[in-house]
Amino acid sequence: MDLWFTENHTEHVKFSMKVKSHLFSAESEYQKIDVIDTYEFGKVLVIDGYLMVTEKDEFIYHEMITHVAMAVNPNIKNVLVIGGGDGGAVRELTRYSSIEKIDMVEIDDVVVKAAKKYLDFTANRLDDERVTLHIEDGIKFVKGKKGLYDLIIVDSTDPIGPGEGLFTTKFYRDCYKILTEKGILINQNESPYYADTAEQMIKATKKLKNVFPIVEVFQCHLPTYASGHWILGFSSKAFHPTHGFDGERWEQIGLETKYYNTNVHLGSFALPTYVNKMLE
Ligand code: SAM
Repeated sequence: MDLWFTENHTEHVKFSMKVKSHLFSAESEYQKIDVIDTYEFGKVLVIDGYLMVTEKDEFIYHEMITHVAMAVNPNIKNVLVIGGGDGGAVRELTRYSSIEKIDMVEIDDVVVKAAKKYLDFTANRLDDERVTLHIEDGIKFVKGKKGLYDLIIVDSTDPIGPGEGLFTTKFYRDCYKILTEKGILINQNESPYYADTAEQMIKATKKLKNVFPIVEVFQCHLPTYASGHWILGFSSKAFHPTHGFDGERWEQIGLETKYYNTNVHLGSFALPTYVNKMLE
């Protein structure tokens, strides 16, 4: 009998992948966590029935959520990752010797433990000496602190459950304060294609524009996320992500990547007309 994992991308659209085996399942105090092994996408992390990370396409997301900011500001030293329990964002950040400190604030220890056990391809750099793991709510962690980080990456679940508060103006204001004077915030900013994620994308971008002077969004093409067209937010106090961008400087670092490059960097901010209209 065939086993399939199916995620509802909308009420009328399902996305299914054939499962080899169901490796892990647990209910934490926050969410249900599963790890499955699939024929097409390898190992897959699922939270509350939503696909989070797959072995085959995670590089697209984790390269874009990290390298765009790192290429804009070569002086990023202190980084805060909120969420990102699979470790993929941290893995990409640890490739920069220029980074001195990475605080990862993940609310659910069960996700981290499952990632370390089953998702070595994303969790394999969580033991880097520069990484400090805080098992707590990112909303609380940023409250009342000032000028500590050059970069914040909000690698959150969707704005439901524990992730909801990571899409609020209050949270973005606290992020603004905890960032240094040239700080950059990158956030998982949903998608323009289906109605519910488009609404979330529009709302989050509007809130960010009320807090940061420079707010742009950029895109990547991720086969396993709803519609495959995914949006990330770039909010900044000082740097524009493309105006005067010096790709050469990033290329000289010599990092091997599979998706990000400095042309993709510039191209990812060139949005389809319907998306620009949504964000006007
Ligand atoms: N890249 C995936 C995506 O776009 O859906 C998400 C990666 S990661 C699995 C998302 C993480 O955010 C989860 O591990 C979840 O526990 C964590 N999370 C949700 N709300 C949080 C909060 N308030 N503070 C810290 N971490 C949170």
